[in-house]
Amino acid sequence: MKIRTYRENFITRLVPVHGISEAENFFYMALEEWHHMKRVDLALRPDAEFTVAEVARWDALLAQLKDEQPIQYLLGKAHFYGLEFEVNTNVLIPRPETEELVEWIISDTEFKPSPTLLDIGTGSGCIAITLAKNLSGAAVSAIDVSVGALETAQRNAAANGVSVKFLEKDILAAHDLGEQYTVIVSNPPYIRNLEKEEMKPNVLEHEPHLALFVEDDNALIFYRKITQLAVRNLIAGGKLYFEINQYLGPEMIGLLTDYGFQDVVLRKDMYGNDRMICGTLPV
Ligand code: GLN
Repeated sequence: MKIRTYRENFITRLVPVHGISEAENFFYMALEEWHHMKRVDLALRPDAEFTVAEVARWDALLAQLKDEQPIQYLLGKAHFYGLEFEVNTNVLIPRPETEELVEWIISDTEFKPSPTLLDIGTGSGCIAITLAKNLSGAAVSAIDVSVGALETAQRNAAANGVSVKFLEKDILAAHDLGEQYTVIVSNPPYIRNLEKEEMKPNVLEHEPHLALFVEDDNALIFYRKITQLAVRNLIAGGKLYFEINQYLGPEMIGLLTDYGFQDVVLRKDMYGNDRMICGTLPV
């Protein structure tokens, strides 16, 4: 079948669920991934065809997209800070807000000699690996409770040509982080059940709940535990960074201040929501 004919059918059937621009986007993302063709290549080769087997593969993708499965899981990859990451249902899809957090850490850390960094709840490894890639001379470690996530993160580190020390650990049960770090960062689960109705089905129904949700009455459980550990395991003058729930900025300032962190800074993401915070352990 002519690709152009197939494209019309594919997009028309996705528009009711995803809208036109998303539907077109999905088509060209898969076209590039599977056929190494960009939009312009299709324009230059208007008679290009899909084989019968290719049509079957595309039809399966169409059905999964109609079911609101995330395109990144279906194609098996996502982009983050200019790097490519394998993703699967063991890990959250990297978010653009998290790129802003990483940018903040890089700009604060890039001139420090031989910094040591720890990422807690690494998932796909996107934070740890991007830091390792962009901070020369840094030693980066990363923790996760999920073996499936750690295996994915390990493959991502290898594919991106960096070395990260991965550790399987349940942070809520940890008493010590073993080493002293210059920087500790975490993007732990922070969505409360009461916020579920704000969520889109592609996230709610397909991304790992282990990485997303906390109890309504204990939303800061990970933050409190990590802050406690950071007081022990950061060097004097070391920095703790978090991605946070946009509705809990004031509570997060309170938490870091209560544990003795100084120069506590809350930052908004590109959408104008309170999304990240940093505190410094006194010297
Ligand atoms: N920002 C993510 C979302 O909105 C949540 C990430 C997290 O819980 N750490 O889906």
